[in-house]
Amino acid sequence: MVVTNPFTEEHNLLRESFAAFVEKEITPNIEHWEKNKICEREVFRKMGEQGFFGVSFPVAYGGSGMDMWSAVVIGEELSKAGIGGLSMSLYAHTYLPLPAINALGTEEQKQKYLVPALKGEKVAALGITEPGAGSDVGGIKTTAVDKGDHFVVNGAKTFITNGTMADFVLLAVRTGEGHSLSLLIFDTKTPGFSANSIHNKLGMHSSDTAELFFENCIVPKSALLGEKDFGFYYIMSNFQEERLIASVTSTQAADSAMEKAKQYMKEREAFGRPIGKFQVLRHKLAKMSIAVETCRSVTYRAVAEYIESGPAAYKIISIAKAYTSEQAFEVINEALQIHGGWGYMEDFGLARALRDIRLVTVGAGTTEIMYEIISKIEIDEVKHKKQMIKQRA
Ligand SMILES: Cc1cc2nc3c(=O)[nH]c(=O)nc-3n(C[C@H](O)[C@H](O)[C@H](O)COP(=O)(O)OP(=O)(O)OC[C@H]3O[C@@H](n4cnc5c(N)ncnc54)[C@H](O)[C@@H]3O)c2cc1C
Repeated sequence: MVVTNPFTEEHNLLRESFAAFVEKEITPNIEHWEKNKICEREVFRKMGEQGFFGVSFPVAYGGSGMDMWSAVVIGEELSKAGIGGLSMSLYAHTYLPLPAINALGTEEQKQKYLVPALKGEKVAALGITEPGAGSDVGGIKTTAVDKGDHFVVNGAKTFITNGTMADFVLLAVRTGEGHSLSLLIFDTKTPGFSANSIHNKLGMHSSDTAELFFENCIVPKSALLGEKDFGFYYIMSNFQEERLIASVTSTQAADSAMEKAKQYMKEREAFGRPIGKFQVLRHKLAKMSIAVETCRSVTYRAVAEYIESGPAAYKIISIAKAYTSEQAFEVINEALQIHGGWGYMEDFGLARALRDIRLVTVGAGTTEIMYEIISKIEIDEVKHKKQMIKQRA
């Protein structure tokens, strides 16, 4: 599958209007949000008002009904703004919990959560990771005890993006032994719930990262997403968009860093000539260019396969996520090196880019977990197919 330019006139118009939005509503606030270590709810409202959250969601729920390439446009333009934390908050709202609610939710759940979230009136989060279990989703300990007409939820989550701002959290809970997990759409106004900001992060400063606590929270049965005890399979199959967007934003972050390096190589002089004349730096640039091109190719191929096959495209999506997040770190690191001491300063945006990109090999499934998924498919294809059938059932 060769993907060269997948964008139509409609995508190009979307890119134009979203780039204008970024320039007006995001760029002027970057320093303020980074310093305050949180963005404001207002930016969610404005994104929703303009329809930017809903580009790839159905018209029936307030979206534009466009394909996944429209989400690529949004991801690329957001990444160009050079504020990874804000981008993460916005896509942790849109591409973590909402695709699962769209795929599995009842009509009532979609009206109550999906519609206001796409309008930017409600902020959403995804709560899977716990202090004792992240990659090992089957090891989570937050429980939801079935009491007939409601669940009682107890436990804690950590590193949750949008955790203190969220109006609802798509929450992974234990409802039985082993892999018997379930997903609840948890309303954060529920008594017994509390959230604390986590500020001591390496990067992604403008995103709201939090630990969440649940103490005897009474949750109605109507909050259950899909079937009880199927949560583990839902998590494995319904969270591919998060990895696709991570690939898109990583690729763009690498591209933007390379462009900065290219410009600097033309302007900066050392030993009486532009540093772009030094072959060692030209070769660095060539390697960066190879990385950016291959990242974009694998990402676009993953998007194309996702449009065609949905979550069953998880092999190429895992490859894209692992490859682009690792390569983007390398490219940004080299771009910083090319800027010498100025690269280490905040002036060129590379210091922030390096801090922010470091998360991407960890979040949305670590590189090691991506390698686990890919190697399982490569070594045991039959088992992989059986697993997909089980997940879809
Ligand atoms: C800023 C930030 C925002 C986040 N946002 C969210 C969010 O919104 N929602 C959410 O639910 N989570 C979120 N996370 C959590 C993130 O998804 C987890 O940190 C990640 O999945 C890794 O889990 P862990 O931290 O428990 O590491 P661990 O799972 O403990 O892993 C530790 C190390 O062991 C390796 N490892 C683990 N298992 C294996 C294996 N089987 N084979 C080989 N190596 C393995 C890992 O790759 C890693 O290198 C966020 C994290 C951060 C830092």
